[in-house]
Amino acid sequence: MLPKILKIALDVPLNRLFDYLNNGFKAQVGSRAVVSFAGRNLVGIVVEISESSEVALDKLKPVIHVFDDVVFDAATFKLLKFCADYYHYPLGQTLISALPLRLRQIKPAVTRKSFVYALNENANLVEIPKKQIVLHKIAHALQANIHGSAGMDANTLSEISSGWRKAIAQLTALGWITQTEIIAVKPSLRSSNVAPDLNAEQQQAISSILSEVGFKPWLLHGVTGSGKTEVYIQLLQKILAEKDAQALILVPEINLTPQLEARFRSRLSQYPLVTLHSNLSESERLQHWQAASAGAAKIVIGTRLSVFTPMPHLKMIIIDEEHDGSYKQQDGMRYHARDVAMVRAKQLNIPIVMGSATPSLETWHLAKPNNITKHQYGLLSLKERAVTNARLPKIHCIDIAKSPTENGLSPILINAMRERLQRGEQSLLFINRRGYAPVMHCNACQWVASCARCSARLVVHLSQKRLKCHHCGHEQKIPLQCPSCGNPDLSPIGLATQRLQQTLATLFPNAKIARVDRDSVRNKDALTDILTQVQNKEIDILVGTQMLAKGHDFPHLTLVGVIDTDTALFSPDFRASERLFSQLMQVSGRAGRAKIAGEVLIQTAFPQNALFDALRSQDYATYADELLNERATMQFPPTSYFALLKAESSDIKQVNQFLNIAANLARTLSNEVTIYDPVRPQMERLKSMERAHLLLQANSRAALQRLLKVWMPQLRAEKLASKIRWALDIDPLEF
Ligand code: ADP
Ligand code: ZN
Ligand code: ZN
Repeated sequence: MLPKILKIALDVPLNRLFDYLNNGFKAQVGSRAVVSFAGRNLVGIVVEISESSEVALDKLKPVIHVFDDVVFDAATFKLLKFCADYYHYPLGQTLISALPLRLRQIKPAVTRKSFVYALNENANLVEIPKKQIVLHKIAHALQANIHGSAGMDANTLSEISSGWRKAIAQLTALGWITQTEIIAVKPSLRSSNVAPDLNAEQQQAISSILSEVGFKPWLLHGVTGSGKTEVYIQLLQKILAEKDAQALILVPEINLTPQLEARFRSRLSQYPLVTLHSNLSESERLQHWQAASAGAAKIVIGTRLSVFTPMPHLKMIIIDEEHDGSYKQQDGMRYHARDVAMVRAKQLNIPIVMGSATPSLETWHLAKPNNITKHQYGLLSLKERAVTNARLPKIHCIDIAKSPTENGLSPILINAMRERLQRGEQSLLFINRRGYAPVMHCNACQWVASCARCSARLVVHLSQKRLKCHHCGHEQKIPLQCPSCGNPDLSPIGLATQRLQQTLATLFPNAKIARVDRDSVRNKDALTDILTQVQNKEIDILVGTQMLAKGHDFPHLTLVGVIDTDTALFSPDFRASERLFSQLMQVSGRAGRAKIAGEVLIQTAFPQNALFDALRSQDYATYADELLNERATMQFPPTSYFALLKAESSDIKQVNQFLNIAANLARTLSNEVTIYDPVRPQMERLKSMERAHLLLQANSRAALQRLLKVWMPQLRAEKLASKIRWALDIDPLEF
């Protein structure tokens, strides 16, 4: 018999497979195998099974073990192979990084299933003797719960009695218990089960999507509150009605709130649903991933990484807030989950629906009505807010030249807040900077506190009496005197969330004020608590960063104040206006979601800026077209394609040398691609590393890919390549 050779992908930075001898394990493509590599045992993925090897057979090592779970099906393999090629990232690392952590470890993939328990119609509690205290307690707790939900889970039961497992076993033996695996039911209480009647635009959207067969991208363009989520839900009811069908819903990390999850669960309660995001424990993540990949979970709601989850019966992909920057992975394989989802939908020949109030220009470019390219996306617009009477907020600029601010607040904004307080309504102040003040300054010698490791100022955190770098995490005590001239009078300059909160507390001593930023809200539960308080009207004024901008529903909030946008207006980043517009639209959307009309006041020194015109008239399309024209003139994406070679080292000379070699090499390889000179990014130094990058630009993806395919192996072979840190970022979002 011919020897069986397993070609295995490993989590090592080498773009090749490794051959091992299989002596008797049942291996399949997609199996996890344990092998010895460079003196360590590693988990790898079987990519091919072959009868020959380029290595002499007696030199090959045997595999140590092959687990019997197949972690990637053929379709997921194909997707990940595409990604490894497109992002020029080693296949082994691509495959392994798509797995839940537990499957990257040298362990069989076992999970304990969890269940909820409920009494069924056989139960007859009078038969239980009072003496059997635990059994009695558990049985009665189950009975009391009978009308509440589908059952009680391990956590709830263990709070009642630590002996619950035995009690459940006894009741099960009596035939009184119905148990249901937990992916199928995780009852939600707050949301309602009632489906609203769709309006004409929503109906149109659904019927258009359903009328096409096969691969088709759709842009569902509608402001916050226009009923996009309702469209997803009713669409899924149609799609999932087909036997075995599965659907994947991608959301930005911060949008996966318990409220959103509950809404999907309660409206699609007949379909097992799992979530995949960073807030899960590793065992939950594995369990959810397995439920999806076995086809048991019909709905997966997840953040960027979940785009790689195997789903054997995937019939539709939905991307909510498709413009959101968190879909882009910023290290390792720098993929964009929206782009990967598009490829996946195409490979599977299924529809993909992208929703947004402010689509990315990449998407708008292909969806806009006067688009002339061939690969058109379908455009579906929801122009009205779905709830009757809930009108769009009125947006005004406060010209801070005419109404100067004191401690960051203009009198107009202060009055508007006072009115809200008197009427018992809520206000939100949006400022995208956490801490007390962005700068610590010496009035005598103009010294400012900056980070020794980064090209960045240290931010003042007054309550802790510390200065912190928001880029590398470095922190130190606030000095008692100026380190440069000895002046004891150092003053914090500028505004951030903590200072704003303090100012508001002085202005409105009786108001209940809450702050939401990464310092005050460290996890999702803390955020949920504050959001619940807002819902219950226990808070009058919210101060916060973009953590507050997204997705949340505040029915009593009628005023949004935007404190400082002007730095973003004139940022050197060519995507800054696009991002600011989208952020301001989002945050405006927080006002007046229920029956009370909302108002948005934006403090700015540049009220004439076109961005504010577009915002006031809620005219995304005109503004987006304007930005697209600018991009076309400058030959920026989406009208051209970028790849960015980023390099860093403690020694800037080596960085420059490497990038110059890379640039020269690239210039010899292609005349279709423009190779710029290496430059320093705005943040020249980060975590003590000196940084520079090289930009490549092409008019087509194909031309860029042709170059990269030859260039990357040559770069990897460069001597300097192993001395410095470098990475290739295809379709970069940040520079
Ligand atoms: P989006 O996802 O665009 O922000 P949602 O789907 O969350 O919008 O809808 C906003 C609110 O309007 C929700 O409370 C939703 O239940 C309600 N809603 C959506 N569609 C309708 C409709 N056709 N009739 C009445 N209410 C609706
Ligand atoms: Zn000084
Ligand atoms: Zn720093």
